[in-house]
Amino acid sequence: MDFDRINNFENVEMTYVSFLSRGYISKNKHIFDSIKLTSFTKFILESCVYGTPIFKMGNSGKRLLILSGIHGNELPPQLANLELMNELLGEKLNNTVYFIPFASPKSTMNNERSFNDIDLNRSAHITNSLSNMIIQTIEELKIDFVGDFHSTAYNSNPGFESVFSSKNPTPESFLIAKYISGEVGSEIITFDIAGSQYKGAVEDVCNLRGTPAITCEVLSPFASIGKGSFVKSLEQMKSFLTYFGF
Ligand SMILES: [Zn+2]
Repeated sequence: MDFDRINNFENVEMTYVSFLSRGYISKNKHIFDSIKLTSFTKFILESCVYGTPIFKMGNSGKRLLILSGIHGNELPPQLANLELMNELLGEKLNNTVYFIPFASPKSTMNNERSFNDIDLNRSAHITNSLSNMIIQTIEELKIDFVGDFHSTAYNSNPGFESVFSSKNPTPESFLIAKYISGEVGSEIITFDIAGSQYKGAVEDVCNLRGTPAITCEVLSPFASIGKGSFVKSLEQMKSFLTYFGF
């Protein structure tokens, strides 16, 4: 997987996970109206017109992934990921951070949970599904730890601010979740064995294949940005990074 340097933004590299998932984020006014349009953000949104971009900052230490948009209608984490990327732009990082702010630009454009009627968090184990291509990317890049960021509405599953993790076969998943919970206050949800409840969540497939991963949830209505949810999601992302000594 070859990354390209970006002329205008020093220390940022990018490539694509897939070209089948392209979409115009600007067509979803529920997120677009809340986006601060810096030149870097404009570049990121333009990249989504061709597919699912993955960005890289830093070149040493642990390799971490901040993932959002697995469910296109969960808007706060996608907004928070853009903000995080802008805040880290130009900073000297002691780890290598990969960002996938929009896992499926098409789903985000349409403000819908699924990608072509497939739930990406139930299909990461199916070869060459879009989320499986993200898994393949994680393995090819030898990413060490994965944070997958979502939002959840009242009366949905789980329906409260939380961090999902598991203890086997990858115990560090639980340790990361415990750290984030202690720092940010999100409730821990942990399973003894990854993927025992349902199949194909990105987090579970990572854990089952030996890459420690967690799923963070903030409370927000689907397809919009609930009060405080953007700030909370950003706090979860930063806490994930500080676990590794940022
Ligand atoms: Zn979700």
